[in-house]
Amino acid sequence: MPEPMTIGVDIGGTKVAAGLVDASGEITNKSRVPIAATGSAEAALDCVKAAIDEIYAAVPEARQAVSGIGICAPGPLDPFTGVILNPPNLPCWRNFPLAAEITRSFGVPARVDNDANAAGLAEAIWGAGVGYTNVFFAIVGTGVGTGIVFDKKIYYGRTGCAAEGGHVTIDYRGPVCGCGKHGCIEAFASGPNIAKRARAKLAAGAKSSILTLAGSTDALRTEHVGEAYAAGDALAAEVLTETAEFLTIWLGTIVDLLEPDVMVIGGGVAELMSTFFPRMSAGLSAWAINKRAGEIPLVLARYGNDAGIAGAAALLKQ
Ligand SMILES: [Zn+2]
Repeated sequence: MPEPMTIGVDIGGTKVAAGLVDASGEITNKSRVPIAATGSAEAALDCVKAAIDEIYAAVPEARQAVSGIGICAPGPLDPFTGVILNPPNLPCWRNFPLAAEITRSFGVPARVDNDANAAGLAEAIWGAGVGYTNVFFAIVGTGVGTGIVFDKKIYYGRTGCAAEGGHVTIDYRGPVCGCGKHGCIEAFASGPNIAKRARAKLAAGAKSSILTLAGSTDALRTEHVGEAYAAGDALAAEVLTETAEFLTIWLGTIVDLLEPDVMVIGGGVAELMSTFFPRMSAGLSAWAINKRAGEIPLVLARYGNDAGIAGAAALLKQ
């Protein structure tokens, strides 16, 4: 008997990435196909199938070993039925039964979920959450997504819309978020919003090597803030220290609500912020009534850019 495997498919607004994932969560083969998000539903489905076919072509024995195909896609979607509802980033699909179509084409069970739920599950099963029962996961990058995994199962809520932790507000007078609310943690701590705060400080007259690294204010990205911070820049340190404070306030609320056994943080911003994790842990007691909040491990995720593939594959394991 070949070792059981799953295929994880990560659908974005411009590409489909797929990977063959073994029983320990290692990604052993990957493919990548562009997707025309504004084309027909059929053409977009063909892109997903092409990414999966590429895996089978490279690893023919996978046809016998693969027990299911998991997919993570931009929401809104229905994780219970595997139907893609009406994502703004994928106008090609409206009420599209993606899981059913994949099962029909490949003859194995298929599951569909959003990227943060899926990536959180992968961390709970194979990654930094292994050994813990209740896992809180956050992916901090271009947005802030979260997943709540209890006993290796995603917590969905009544209609599958639970765990939108990135849109928990920490300041009702704060900046307007992409979702329309004020002061969501995403509006403070996502990559683009970190860059925005740095830009505002520069516009107010602060001097910093961030601008030299970026070339211009318009070209300023979070990566430049990170580079400047590593080189000892005072303004970059100020921006990232504030970011750590915002995240600490937010995590304190999460701790009071869930008291998880571990908090796993992934995404590009998480890597940048990981040197602040110890001080964030130490600061939690000021933002949680839970006097033992600081004991909860705050750790970097196992999966980086492959979080979507690993997460999608993990959907078959819950
Ligand atoms: Zn929001």
